[in-house]
Amino acid sequence: MKMTLNEEMTVLKIVTHNPQKMRHMETLFTREQIEKRIKELGEQISADYINREILAIGLLKGCTVFMSHLLLHIDADIEIDFMTISSYKHGTKSNEFKFVQDLDTNVNGKHILIVEDIIDTGKTMAFTQDLLKQRGAASVETVVFVDKKSRRTHEIAEPKYVGFNYDEEPFIVGFGFDLSGKYRNLPHVYKLSD
Ligand code: 5GP
Repeated sequence: MKMTLNEEMTVLKIVTHNPQKMRHMETLFTREQIEKRIKELGEQISADYINREILAIGLLKGCTVFMSHLLLHIDADIEIDFMTISSYKHGTKSNEFKFVQDLDTNVNGKHILIVEDIIDTGKTMAFTQDLLKQRGAASVETVVFVDKKSRRTHEIAEPKYVGFNYDEEPFIVGFGFDLSGKYRNLPHVYKLSD
């Protein structure tokens, strides 16, 4: 049964459980729009990698929902791996990252497709792309679900595949995007308002 936007907002208020933490969420991208766009991305990637095997590297945890949907639309030889990197919260230098979980796979000579949820300042992506190139990847391309391009402070190889552009201020949650670890399971992408 399809819910109206008001009904969805009511549900979202309830799932926070704590009235003091209650946040209003407005639908930004519906599940229907998301599925359509992911299918298009998958088709584009399949066409580009027709003669090459892909090693898709997902950046955890934000990539999980997007990546699992995207993979189903990629018609190519593909392996997957994951890494978790996080920036030091009080770090002062731009390269202060720590590995929470490194790859299992040797990337040397492989055609890498980085799968990221959001590129914001580009700090995470700059670090990831440099690392994979240093490790001898044959090529490195990036697919991002939501690109906040106007907010870049770091130079990166810009993503070849972009789901949606979003340059507004409000934080977004749902379809894999979290707020303090929650809301990744929401079926649409929402923007938060107070
Ligand atoms: P960057 O290193 O590009 O500044 O930050 C990228 C990371 O910031 C993303 O992987 C994502 O985890 C987080 N991020 C940036 N903007 C948002 C947002 O609007 N919502 C959520 N949930 N995460 C965001």
